[in-house]
Amino acid sequence: MNTIQKLTEHFSKLPGIGPRQSKRFVYYLLRRDNKFIEELAELLLELKKEVMVCALCNRFFAMNSSGQKMCNICADQNRDTHMLMVVAKDIDLENVERSGVYNGLYYILGGTVAILEKNPDQKVRIKELIKTVEERSKKTGLKEIILAFSVNPEGENTMHYISEIISPLALKYSLKISALGRGLSTGTELEYPDAETIKNAFKNRA
Ligand SMILES: [Zn+2]
Repeated sequence: MNTIQKLTEHFSKLPGIGPRQSKRFVYYLLRRDNKFIEELAELLLELKKEVMVCALCNRFFAMNSSGQKMCNICADQNRDTHMLMVVAKDIDLENVERSGVYNGLYYILGGTVAILEKNPDQKVRIKELIKTVEERSKKTGLKEIILAFSVNPEGENTMHYISEIISPLALKYSLKISALGRGLSTGTELEYPDAETIKNAFKNRA
């Protein structure tokens, strides 16, 4: 296999990228100058070195010189610690943040649970979520858990799975479990809706 073919194969592994698009990426790169390619290659190498996973919410964040273990949201004293929003992935968090409607904390599950999935606990970070809910209930007075997933069968399945698992904790600590999805139309993926739609979905959570 030559370099063009190898690189095409790598690009086609990126989310949402098919073989034709990945080939276009390769030819685009071939037309760019060396400086562009070098910068891109350097950034790719730096990515894993400089980016950490937040110990509290699992979010990726760029490390600064102070060597902090928390992302800026978890470290922010002005966030409302009574609310914890559970999302599937980083990009969903970013979209909710952009809407400016939510000032609580987050938890990133790292994926969703497909219908008929045999080992859901290996697909999402559920054990750590239980620990987080337990700790936050004791220490920061957690009151509400907001499940915010895409409005599709897999998102709904994930929502049911999570609510079933955390309901004993909700009972124990008198937590409200709500869902963001109600205000979003069917088929909506959480990473796409605009600020106004997110705002409505948040206000109408139930
Ligand atoms: Zn965090």
